[in-house]
Amino acid sequence: MSELQQILQAIKQFSDQRDWHKFHNNKDLAIAISIEAAELNEIFLWKTPQQSDKDFDKQQLEDELADILTYSFMMAYKNNLDIKSIILNKLQKNAKKYPVEKSRGNARKYTEL
Ligand SMILES: [Mg+2]
Repeated sequence: MSELQQILQAIKQFSDQRDWHKFHNNKDLAIAISIEAAELNEIFLWKTPQQSDKDFDKQQLEDELADILTYSFMMAYKNNLDIKSIILNKLQKNAKKYPVEKSRGNARKYTEL
């Protein structure tokens, strides 16, 4: 079993034991991802970019990232999406949108390259 499958199994077991799958519709999973992303933002709120790289609670960062990833994995699992494939496919799309020769070293959106 791959590490990814182990993670998915642990998440599924957690929900199975609590009978929580019935709450995991796409709308609420999307909202949960957004809320957890906001909690991640809160860690860095009012810090300078420099402070945000070194002056933060690492445990909080771990917890909020885990929440986001867990809900994201749940949404992928619910919709029979292969996590490895969807990430690699999106990276390929992004590589076309952001060719190295036009995007290297700048943060402009693809529409402004
Ligand atoms: Mg959280």
